[in-house]
Amino acid sequence: MNDERMKVLYDGFRDAQRRSPRVTQDAQTSFVEGLEFVLAASGSKPSFFALTTETGRAEQAELLSTLVPQGVHSGKGELHVHRLYRAYRTGDVEVDESLHRQSRIRLPVFWISTDDRLAAAYEEGEPDRFDDTELLGYPLCCAEWHYDAFFARGIEAFCAVAKAEGASREGLLRLLDGFVPSSGYFLPDEIFLAAILRSNVIYPFVSHVACPACCSGTTTASRVLNDRAAAVAISLDPEGVERLRGWCRTQERVIASVTGSMARIVDDAAEVHAMGVRGEDVYRKHVRHLLKALALR
Ligand SMILES: [Zn+2]
Repeated sequence: MNDERMKVLYDGFRDAQRRSPRVTQDAQTSFVEGLEFVLAASGSKPSFFALTTETGRAEQAELLSTLVPQGVHSGKGELHVHRLYRAYRTGDVEVDESLHRQSRIRLPVFWISTDDRLAAAYEEGEPDRFDDTELLGYPLCCAEWHYDAFFARGIEAFCAVAKAEGASREGLLRLLDGFVPSSGYFLPDEIFLAAILRSNVIYPFVSHVACPACCSGTTTASRVLNDRAAAVAISLDPEGVERLRGWCRTQERVIASVTGSMARIVDDAAEVHAMGVRGEDVYRKHVRHLLKALALR
């Protein structure tokens, strides 16, 4: 795809965003979505998908579907988009397996790809056959870390606390009935927010949350991706890039306010969950481990 066609597609995406006032997104997310849509349509990124769960997103996807160039595959549906990168580790195989089964959920998405094999997997409802490197071009270090820290640890902490409070296996399985995996489950939200913002400020031109190793290194996979996407962004939308950089500067304060009040955040979270003394000890231990995994200590 030549530069001119990329620019037309990019402007079309921004127009679709303007015509979707019900969609609320932060500045970085909405900027990067446009960029990644164009990268996927031009074949520079394996595929792109957007969840259409939130308000206004399905209508926005309708607008986007009219922009998809000829020869580029696209579609929508309830699909298995998230690969489960590791088994759960609650100390009880039966509980682990039950959680694993419940975690493989279908989510409504709109997707595009120039790759025939990926498009076939989307059509069949199972793009999670491919890992996030093959499917989305994300570094595997970040994808594995993200699944561990943002999804698995929360529910493992929940199970450990329930057990410390005396729950039996049957009781625990009953508690977990209907469990739906969600980012940052049970553990303090602010901690996850700080990890996301740290990544977004360092690598604002990619949508994935970069792992601590990627965030601290100078020649990491995330940096390479970010710099490549930044070059495209500057050629398509220099003013948008300036606005994005301005937004990044304002987020430094938000990150500092979280990392500077970690003790209070943990106290508040422990209070919200109203645990007994033994449960609270276990909860605090899991939060400490999480902070280490996120490199936020
Ligand atoms: Zn990484």
